[in-house]
Amino acid sequence: MSVPVAPQRVLPTLNADGTRNRIRPRLYPGRLHRRRRAVALALMALFLSLPFLRANGHPAMLLDVVNRKFFLFGYTFLATDGALLMLVLLSVFVAIALVTALLGRAWCGWACPQTVYMEFLFRPLERWLEGPREAQLRLDRSGANARRVAKNVIYLGLSFLLANVFLAYFVGTDVLSRWVLEAPTKHGGGFGIVLVTTGLVFFDFAYFREQMCTVACPYARLQAVLLDPKSLLIAYDEPRGEPRSKGKAKTPGHGDCIDCRACVVSCPTGIDIREGLQLECIACGQCADACDSIMDRIKKPRGLVRYSSQQTLATGRATRLLRPRVIVYALVLVGLLSALVFVGKRRPEAEVTVLRGVGAPFSVTGQQVVNQLRLKVTNRSEESRRFSVRLIDFPDARVIAPELPLLVAPTEQGAASFFVAVPADAIRGARHVRLRVGDEHEFQTVEYTLMGPQGDTP
Ligand code: SF4
Ligand code: SF4
Repeated sequence: MSVPVAPQRVLPTLNADGTRNRIRPRLYPGRLHRRRRAVALALMALFLSLPFLRANGHPAMLLDVVNRKFFLFGYTFLATDGALLMLVLLSVFVAIALVTALLGRAWCGWACPQTVYMEFLFRPLERWLEGPREAQLRLDRSGANARRVAKNVIYLGLSFLLANVFLAYFVGTDVLSRWVLEAPTKHGGGFGIVLVTTGLVFFDFAYFREQMCTVACPYARLQAVLLDPKSLLIAYDEPRGEPRSKGKAKTPGHGDCIDCRACVVSCPTGIDIREGLQLECIACGQCADACDSIMDRIKKPRGLVRYSSQQTLATGRATRLLRPRVIVYALVLVGLLSALVFVGKRRPEAEVTVLRGVGAPFSVTGQQVVNQLRLKVTNRSEESRRFSVRLIDFPDARVIAPELPLLVAPTEQGAASFFVAVPADAIRGARHVRLRVGDEHEFQTVEYTLMGPQGDTP
């Protein structure tokens, strides 16, 4: 059966017949590569150490989704901090828009964990074990040998390590070490999560690779729509390079591009930067390093492929950093961060709610009317606190609270029932009162409506 062939290129990672085109980039270790490697090593150290670092007695970063607690660099956000979390998320979103407007897809090429680990951990190991691009392509054709098997075994070990670090961001290092060190039968669920995450990391870095950026990552699509003609990107200087001349550096009437394809074979997503701005370009600059090395060889100025902007390439004028869009994003970001600080500072250390108890709104016992209430407290502070309740402005009433004071651990929630007993002749229908809830550090005033016989429903 004949296989239909695509009339034009669909994706750089696909051959015309739909099979996978494996990208094996050639390394040209230039100026940008050296800088990216330094950044990548620093980021890897940061990614690996963040879950182990402590700030204010908590992990520097822990996203405890199950218990709805988030610890970020000494700040604690609980499920009840919806406004703060919303401000944090909006700030992140606007910061992305700002950075993208200024630096294009710099995040993708320089700081995304996918790029950092792929280009500066997994790919170097591959080159070390299998050899350069040509040797890897030969192996693709001839089938795996002992070196490729050894590479995959090492990849598996690294994937296990990275999966553990990744999970530490969500469950914390204490829980994770229990999952890893104790028998799998004791933590079947946790052990399963570690295995599945290891498998996913291995699949990504051993097989899926650049397809994460070119077809899977939603962030890549978002960044693409945030770019404008003045954003920084990696670009080919077409007026200088064209018309290209194959293999000849100084053909009269030709540009500087000698069509050596070094920029193409060095690209980790397999595209040709000379075709213009493409969604698959992660702005890593490997094509710029490759082209610079060719320009050195043919004694032409560097920078035929370089960081620039579409506007600069078209007009020759340098792009102004401060432009209306950037200023608006920056102002919005400053406003959001100010609101975050303001709301955060005004946030009480405990969130207190007083609710009516289950069952009848009140009961009459002898000469007394008794209301049952329920106290719910979220302790946001960093120390255990004991919460008690007293009535402010109803001297005839008594608080009966065998479960109070309520001890609540840091960042935890607690609840307890208590009663308010009122002489029967002191209450008719609904009566609004104020309760003071708290401990010796901080009290909050909570309004409540007590109920009695022959009264209107509040
Ligand atoms: S075109 Fe250049 S900058 Fe873009 S992904 Fe390929 S090598 Fe990186
Ligand atoms: S590396 Fe430079 S000279 Fe070679 S094909 Fe690419 S743009 Fe042209």
